[in-house]
Amino acid sequence: MKFFLATGSDHKITELRRILVANGVDGVVLGLGDVDPYPEPVEDGDTFEANALIKAREGFARTGLPTLADDSGIEVDVLNRMPGVRSARWAGSGAGDGENLALLIRQIDDVAPEKRTARFVCAMALVWDGGEQVVRGVVEGTLAEAPRGQGGFGYDPLFIPEGETRTTAEMSPEEKDAISHRGRALRAMIPHLRLSTE
Ligand code: IMP
Repeated sequence: MKFFLATGSDHKITELRRILVANGVDGVVLGLGDVDPYPEPVEDGDTFEANALIKAREGFARTGLPTLADDSGIEVDVLNRMPGVRSARWAGSGAGDGENLALLIRQIDDVAPEKRTARFVCAMALVWDGGEQVVRGVVEGTLAEAPRGQGGFGYDPLFIPEGETRTTAEMSPEEKDAISHRGRALRAMIPHLRLSTE
């Protein structure tokens, strides 16, 4: 089984590889660093699904290998479901995770606890010579009053999944994978991944 993970994010590659191994998917997983470098395509879709497909199609066109790509982000209800597809660039196009998180914290600092509902969304696309498949994984939750925890990345220090008291940055990697949007999407994709690499 050999396929290409079209993402330049080390965090995502680590998470995706870990989830695949935990689900008994072994084989050669190539990342952007393993192939001839190519510029990442512009993610100008209006939905997570559209952006995931843009990245997976580009990866397949470049490598000819079954290609998996995800697009993900956080939807905050009180912000009309933004940052959404703009999660990675919320504080501007050159902004890093720390700046994006700091901006979101400021934007909701006066919002009452019961109104701090949010969700992580992940669309995952697979493109191969036999077709295309897109699935979605979601985890509902609320946003903490202040960031907590050292694990994960991005908005994890703020996000408390439903039924939990800890943020996803306070959970072990395996605990996060079991309930995360990316874990859910990838587990739904595994049967298609097996098919595409047969
Ligand atoms: P993408 O690389 O275009 O999919 O952007 C995803 C952005 O959403 C990241 O930069 C993070 O800020 C945020 N995000 C996605 N998944 C997670 C997660 O599991 N934890 C924390 N933040 C996430």
